[in-house]
Amino acid sequence: MKITDHIKAAQGKTLFSFEIVPPVKGKNIQELYDNIDPLMEYKPPFIDVTTSREEFVYIKKDGLLDKKLTRMRPGTVGICASIAHKYGVDTVPHVLCGGFTKEETEYLLVDCQYLGIENVMALRGDAMAGQRYFEATAGGHAYASGLVSQIHQLSQGKYLHETVEGIPTNSFCIGVAGYPEKHLEAPSMQQDLKRLKEKVDAGAHYVVTQMFFDNQKYFEFVSAAREMGIEVPIIPGIKPIAVEKHLQLLPQVFSLDLPQDLIDAVSDCSDNKAVRQVGIEWAIAQSKELLAAGVPVLHYYSMGKSSNIEAIAKEVF
Ligand code: FAD
Repeated sequence: MKITDHIKAAQGKTLFSFEIVPPVKGKNIQELYDNIDPLMEYKPPFIDVTTSREEFVYIKKDGLLDKKLTRMRPGTVGICASIAHKYGVDTVPHVLCGGFTKEETEYLLVDCQYLGIENVMALRGDAMAGQRYFEATAGGHAYASGLVSQIHQLSQGKYLHETVEGIPTNSFCIGVAGYPEKHLEAPSMQQDLKRLKEKVDAGAHYVVTQMFFDNQKYFEFVSAAREMGIEVPIIPGIKPIAVEKHLQLLPQVFSLDLPQDLIDAVSDCSDNKAVRQVGIEWAIAQSKELLAAGVPVLHYYSMGKSSNIEAIAKEVF
């Protein structure tokens, strides 16, 4: 079922969903299942699975370093199919511009159609480690809006190199990223919103936001997006702080502000166990306010161990 249909079917009730990051290659899927199992009690209608782009590794050879490309994590579509099969939920693979040609994206989408995966998140991806700025892959898309167009075209049976008419194709429900505190590369909030509108005009059906820690930022973002004519559902993304290092890391990586009360509470903690508890309590308070405001879905970023998401869900759903 499409995410937008889940939202409609909920008739105003806020849904619970979460995102998982596949473990590095060499591990098996049981680790993911162990993290998902406790969250199923809260009946997520869908689970997102992130995609990590390729990385360079350096191998010592004859005293020199040989640069090789590799992927550190297994493919997202296979993981999505396994989770959907095991739990009977919809899964949402994240599809990236970075690291993929348009043809490779087409094959990936064809696999999704074959496996009955109806939802995808269309994302540009970040610069590769060691690169300062994102560089488009040769033969790939430079921005998520181009990827959204490709997915939208395929939904209508229009492949890259031929138009296949009369062959039934599943149409995709397409999610895109939105930034309540502006994407780090955007020259202004207004310009970033214009870019978001381009993604929606190209065929995106819903937006999931980057994490934020002050709900006011989300409420202002939604009003500005509505003023811009963006009418699709805007799903807030919530990440509980889990370690003290997040105080530096999150602003640096995602270009966002942390409220002073949260910084103070984390700074007062004697260890990371206490920080994790502060993160849970902050996310519960955020979630309750967003729930009261009638957001369509509360979507949680679960990186690694999901026990904090479970603790939040227990209080909120
Ligand atoms: P875009 O929408 O393409 O925007 C990127 C930047 O370019 C913005 O500053 C925008 O304003 C600007 N821009 C857009 N169009 C144009 C144009 N035509 N000309 C000039 N500038 C333009 N990353 C991963 O690697 N894997 C994941 O699984 C993943 N999941 C994510 C899930 C969510 C909910 C979110 C919010 C982010 C996720 N990301 C993921 C991170 C994302 O890839 C990065 O934030 C990336 O830097 C931007 O992606 P985007 O899709 O928003 O890009």
